[in-house]
Amino acid sequence: MATLFDFASAGISALTPYKPGRPIDEVKRQYGLSEVIKLASNESPLGPSPAVIAAINAAASGCHRYPDGNAYYLKQALAQKHGCSVAQITVGNGTNELLSMLARLFLKPGVSAVYSAHAFIVYKLSVMMAGAEAIEVPAVDFGHDLAAIAAAISPSTRMVFLANPNNPTGTLFSEAQFTEFMALVPENVLVVLDEAYFDYVDPAVRFDGIDYVERYANLVVTRTFSKVYALGGLRIGYAISSQALADLLNRGREPFNVNAIAQVAATAALSDEAHIAQSVALNASGMRQLLDGFKALDLAVISSYANFITVDVGEGAAVAEKLLQQGVIVRAIGEYQLPHYIRISIGLASENQRLLSALQQVL
Ligand SMILES: *Cc1c(COP(=O)(O)O)cnc(C)c1O
Repeated sequence: MATLFDFASAGISALTPYKPGRPIDEVKRQYGLSEVIKLASNESPLGPSPAVIAAINAAASGCHRYPDGNAYYLKQALAQKHGCSVAQITVGNGTNELLSMLARLFLKPGVSAVYSAHAFIVYKLSVMMAGAEAIEVPAVDFGHDLAAIAAAISPSTRMVFLANPNNPTGTLFSEAQFTEFMALVPENVLVVLDEAYFDYVDPAVRFDGIDYVERYANLVVTRTFSKVYALGGLRIGYAISSQALADLLNRGREPFNVNAIAQVAATAALSDEAHIAQSVALNASGMRQLLDGFKALDLAVISSYANFITVDVGEGAAVAEKLLQQGVIVRAIGEYQLPHYIRISIGLASENQRLLSALQQVL
């Protein structure tokens, strides 16, 4: 007789779970350290703005009430920010939830999804969870090869995942490359454009995927509050798409998928533009500081447009472990087929300095 576990979804049984950056407290306990810094999860080193903290405090006494399942105020603010209608927005318990919802909506055994080598690993996990085939396309210069991705689309393909910039490589593709790509994608294949790091990209070189949602009915753009908005711990992200796709997503989601505190925090975060500008400026100076430091250490990097830098240290896992012993958490990225590299999130100037000193010792 078949066992209980023989009936479990083959896709889920076969997958390797997501490996998050180590929590600071866990590293302190394990290594008996009192001063640990984390540059491993691309979190904003400034933290949320005072306006966000005030909004969270004010909302705390109301948390016996269920959240607004429609996220009314947040969607109003997002519609205004992006010049879209409220009916085009889906909010999620992090972008992660939206990515797996999209995969569940379009994928099943027998169909496929396409993404780039070294792309954000949640794409692969979402495809596997749905039991579909993953088609991984070789990268060029560590970035997405959009022409090859378009060419890899087969009659069984239902979705393509793109990250711009990509994590963990920080690579960016241009508006011209994107529109050439979209012209090659069949209208019945969904393109998921993940813009988690949009705000960090120099406005001179970036384009806003949301501007293209009107033109392409098969495009959905995702954004997160986990990075520049500094709300990773609250789990909130959103997708903007055609109204028809948003309607499907909103039918399929859990009724209260985004909690009440996250909704008020995100709404407050959108309104504090000065804090966002400060975070972006801090990131730009931290990027220069780290690039100078890596140059001095003679380390090669992958040019990044985001809030992290991926650096060739020879043996990523071993170096990351030695940095842990020094109280510096970074990310080895062997599971991204980049075993020589570590990914370092840009921190405060003092944290960046500490990382550079620790790295010099370890190497
Ligand atoms: C961090 C990140 C996200 C955000 O995920 P959340 O679930 O919103 O925290 C999405 N996409 C990429 C590529 C990321 O690196």
